[in-house]
Amino acid sequence: MKPIRKFTVRAVVPPQLSALEELAANLRWSWHEPTRRLFEHIDPTGWQRSDRDPVAFLGDVDPARLEQLAGDAGYVEWAERQREDLRSYLSEPRWFQSLGAETPRTIAYFSPEFGIADSLPQYSGGLGILAGDHLKAASDLGVPLVAVGLFYKAGYFSQSISPDGWQQERYPALDPDGLPLAVLRRPDGAPVQVTLALPDDRSLHARVWTASVGRIPLLLLDTDIPANTDELRQVTDRLYGGGGEHRLQQELLLGIGGVRALRAWSELTGRHAPDVFHMNEGHAGFLGLERIAAYIGEGLSFTEALQLVRAGTVFTTHTPVPAGIDRFDRGLVKSYLTSALLPGLDPADALALGVEPGADPATSAFNMAIMGLRLAQHANGVSKLHGEVSRRMFGALWPGFDAEEVPITSITNGVHAPTWTDAALLGLAEQRLGTADAEHAAWLSEAVSDAELFSVKRGMRLQLVEDARRRLVAAWAEQHAGASAPDWVHRVLDPDVLTVGFARRVPTYKRLTLMLQDPERLKAILTNPDRPVQFVIAGKSHPADDEGKRLIQQLVQFTQQPELRERIVFLPDYDMGMAERLYPGCDVWLNNPLRPLEACGTSGMKAAMNGALNLSILDGWWAEFAADDHGWVIPTADAAADSAERDRLEAAALYDLLEHRIAPSFYERDADEVPAEWMVRMRRTLATLSPELGADRMVREYVERLYRPAAEQSARVGASGAKPARELAAWSNRVREAWPAVHVAHVESGGVDAAPHVGDALHLRAHVALGSLRPEDVSVEVVYGRSPDDDVIEAPRRVTLEPEAGAATSDAATRVYAGTVTLDRAGAFGYTVRVVPRHPLLLSTAELGLVALAG
Ligand SMILES: *Cc1c(COP(=O)(O)O)cnc(C)c1O
Repeated sequence: MKPIRKFTVRAVVPPQLSALEELAANLRWSWHEPTRRLFEHIDPTGWQRSDRDPVAFLGDVDPARLEQLAGDAGYVEWAERQREDLRSYLSEPRWFQSLGAETPRTIAYFSPEFGIADSLPQYSGGLGILAGDHLKAASDLGVPLVAVGLFYKAGYFSQSISPDGWQQERYPALDPDGLPLAVLRRPDGAPVQVTLALPDDRSLHARVWTASVGRIPLLLLDTDIPANTDELRQVTDRLYGGGGEHRLQQELLLGIGGVRALRAWSELTGRHAPDVFHMNEGHAGFLGLERIAAYIGEGLSFTEALQLVRAGTVFTTHTPVPAGIDRFDRGLVKSYLTSALLPGLDPADALALGVEPGADPATSAFNMAIMGLRLAQHANGVSKLHGEVSRRMFGALWPGFDAEEVPITSITNGVHAPTWTDAALLGLAEQRLGTADAEHAAWLSEAVSDAELFSVKRGMRLQLVEDARRRLVAAWAEQHAGASAPDWVHRVLDPDVLTVGFARRVPTYKRLTLMLQDPERLKAILTNPDRPVQFVIAGKSHPADDEGKRLIQQLVQFTQQPELRERIVFLPDYDMGMAERLYPGCDVWLNNPLRPLEACGTSGMKAAMNGALNLSILDGWWAEFAADDHGWVIPTADAAADSAERDRLEAAALYDLLEHRIAPSFYERDADEVPAEWMVRMRRTLATLSPELGADRMVREYVERLYRPAAEQSARVGASGAKPARELAAWSNRVREAWPAVHVAHVESGGVDAAPHVGDALHLRAHVALGSLRPEDVSVEVVYGRSPDDDVIEAPRRVTLEPEAGAATSDAATRVYAGTVTLDRAGAFGYTVRVVPRHPLLLSTAELGLVALAG
């Protein structure tokens, strides 16, 4: 029977065990094994049944068992110790406190998705998991961050596969009362409500849930409340669900509503208002408009407000794939940006921020990533290669500058080791290396024998095999109206066979089916009698992406062949719960995107943390970390004539590696039945690679390279009632207006004769027309370097030319700038002279996108 209404009744926990409730209320349990063990002890079977979610578990556990434990002094004391441990974790000084830095005071981190725990499914893939890991690492490091997102009633979706291989989506509703969430309330108990004015005099209201992710508060806005019309209650129904307008409403809520929620939060908690705003992708870009409108309300102009907002804003771009970037119909955006929503903000100014460079401003789509870059003085990609790709991709925003000068840096993603390292491996480290820190050089020592490490890895593989069987048996029953699964389903996979994993979302560029290029060859690899290989595959396709669903179908149908089905499986409903067992259970992690479309990719990092070796195209993070010790590179067939040939060549390389390098190495056993060469690689991966891949390294980089500079810049520009911001705005306007008249009239050179030598000095004098600008408004630079052909200066270097005193010219607005370049290298040499704006509050030469080049 179907209930008409559902809610969760929370258990009554005996007062002696109140520690359990406190521990369940903070999501730190999701990465803290000792806390999990405390819960598991209550009822190991029930614990597994609740998917290791303490909140669901406490709601389900037999009250008699709790009463019994309340009388068990040993257990009560254990629980108290864990509570003390949590309390000191939450309050003691950590890395950030040791810096003694006054800023940033508070960093507001906005993301459309957060993957923190399996039981809080508010993510679709890598972007969300990364956001979750960012919060956890920020918590461990004591970084004063507050996170903002949306609460989606049905999360993303849950996937099942029909017998003919087609993806089916279900949207089971979550009950927030059964989750570790609390409503943000005013002291009188009334819930905080955030309101956005919509067109046609409608209003969108949201309540604010708060979750505690260790030390980090996470605010999630939720429109499913009676104050809204039925239609508007659906705004936060699911992640990336609807089309244009629905998505736009979600993003307006995230950005504008998010800033409003933060104001209430900071008032209620007494915490500092944020001095840094970090947008994890463009989806939260409207936060900049809300902040600009607030400054306009304080009397600033749009341009002045923009300076203030930019100074403290960090934008992270996550994808070079156009479909991954939100672009809205311009007219639609315009209809929402009313003065009721954003008082004082001229919609034309706001709309201009989203115009793609070079596009017709009247008709261009409204691009959220472009707006993000215009709103943020600090921007980054998520791996070194992705940084380069982004500088080229967005270079048109800074016309006249080479890609190297485009102000987008990179910080390579990381993953949260305590979340993603298997408990068995942590246990082994604790026992043998004397540390629970699995990322430890001691993995190279003899403290752990090869045999022992290999046997722990086998346990991890077995755990995956059992999990896969359980999932497939359940999926079979679901697909076949409750019929029980045939015997072979209980027998799929083998804990002693070399295991290759592949799991991720299924956009085309990730090439789920590359492995099927030559089905006969793959079949031979899987069924090799001496050196068999097995594949475990998972992934969700976006519900609107039929192309992705066809790829899944093709793969599922391949796995259904009777002679293969025990060696290659597709596990439905990829999520964090599956991921937790999948990465540790694999020996090899496969990634074969179309280079360079994988911005970073984090699943391979998680696999490496569990001693898996990577087999990957040289893309994303792997382009930085690939080494013989850590796995194998699938060569990229850049020279291929077309994409079909490229796929064919890259797949052939993949088969070759599996057949001739990987399988032989795995099955080459020494006297103890251990693959000695394999173990060397596994140890090096654990000892030297995994420490580099941690989210703590990533968050420290964010603090030092982006958050701190953003906080400082924000303080600088906002000082004395934002006087510097006003000056900077006035100066930028003046420079922009005057710029068309700025040019290099001519350049005189001397000092080198017809046959210059290394060590010679090249003297330059540039006559520069400044129009209405003052000499100190600009820098005049020689840009020079190797010039193998007419169009380029490679790895250019720069020297600033100085204004020549008293060098009057016929034209008062023309000044002479002079300087010297030493020719320090032999070979083809080229130089040019350019004029760029100069102001102490600019962070990069390219910032205004203005340059006047000689010639
Ligand atoms: C890590 C992870 C991802 C992201 O994997 P990529 O390799 O970056 O595509 C997606 N989903 C889940 C459940 C994950 O744990």
